[in-house]
Amino acid sequence: MERIKKGALWVFCEVQENQLLPVGLQLLGRAKTLAEESNRPLYAVVLGKISKDSVKLLHASGAHEVICSVGSAFDEKLEQPYADSLIRLSEQFEPDILLVGATPFGRAFAPRVAAALGTGLTADCTELSIDAESGLLLQTRPAFGGNMMATIRTATSRPQMATVRPGVLPLPEPMEVSDREPITIEDDGQIGLVKLLKETAISRGADISQSKIIVAAGRGIGQKKNLKLVQALADKLGGQVGASRPLVDMGFCPYSSQIGQTGYSVAPDLLICCGISGAVQHLAGIGGAKTVIAINTDPKAPIFAVADYKIVGDCVSVLEHLLKALDEN
Ligand SMILES: Cc1cc2nc3c(=O)[nH]c(=O)nc-3n(C[C@H](O)[C@H](O)[C@H](O)COP(=O)(O)OP(=O)(O)OC[C@H]3O[C@@H](n4cnc5c(N)ncnc54)[C@H](O)[C@@H]3O)c2cc1C
Repeated sequence: MERIKKGALWVFCEVQENQLLPVGLQLLGRAKTLAEESNRPLYAVVLGKISKDSVKLLHASGAHEVICSVGSAFDEKLEQPYADSLIRLSEQFEPDILLVGATPFGRAFAPRVAAALGTGLTADCTELSIDAESGLLLQTRPAFGGNMMATIRTATSRPQMATVRPGVLPLPEPMEVSDREPITIEDDGQIGLVKLLKETAISRGADISQSKIIVAAGRGIGQKKNLKLVQALADKLGGQVGASRPLVDMGFCPYSSQIGQTGYSVAPDLLICCGISGAVQHLAGIGGAKTVIAINTDPKAPIFAVADYKIVGDCVSVLEHLLKALDEN
């Protein structure tokens, strides 16, 4: 086990149906910079077996080593055996920083790990950096209902733990790497108190956090029937419909389309915001968008501060014009 150094930066990389979830790679991309800045080794930690290609992708995304804990306890994806295993690994190898993706599983399992290790956990960070003086992890996240950003440090307990939601950080460009074996650790952990009897897939539509093109509607869209225009534009562009929280609260759109602090974080190449004011809680979810087009009747709407292209006008008629123009071309 000499390959595993103490005081390293660990990224827990979640696997779903034999595939690495993108959030682990997104975390590795940022962690690579953090590791370089703080001179820490960077390890990807996977519970359960993964393919050679997945190991290579983790190395290509910045991991110096890939630690694979394997055993029958991971045959079923349950929080308790996963948490128990990561706790044992952390106690043995004492990582200095441990990052986890804030997926539904990560959100449930990371706090168990933090509590057992007697350390803190900053959930849903939107930014991670290293304090140049102390080398501590600076964990930034919205606080007080999203009205301010708080930067949190875990000064004394270890590991310094944080979760980041999928889509908040960009995917790293994979580097050229040669095939390397992971560090495999046999874990004879027990299944524990909970037994998985049945899994039922709940259809929630396509995952908006992965969408490359999003046409998002806010309260300025007016009546529910106007959402047809938003859907039509999304269909034409090969994208998905997103929504601000009021549209979800009013039952106009499903929660799976809500963007923002209490919805999904998105990082599309193109985001078209129709009648969205740009409240901080909404903006918290769109930081990863590459190009933002905003349509709003109010030239002072805060959404314009983050928009690359600004259209001051009624979004319903702008959408009608856009659809007509696309039909004609
Ligand atoms: C703890 C907490 C968590 C929250 N989480 C989220 C979240 O995850 N996501 C989220 O979205 N919100 C969230 N909110 C709510 C957030 O504060 C805002 O209330 C919400 O984002 C506003 O949505 P909106 O922009 O659609 O509506 P509004 O703020 O009402 O803005 C409507 C906009 O439409 C414009 N408009 C009006 N008519 C037209 C027209 N015809 N054409 C074009 N523009 C027009 C107006 O000028 C205005 O700018 C949260 C709030 C709290 C307190």
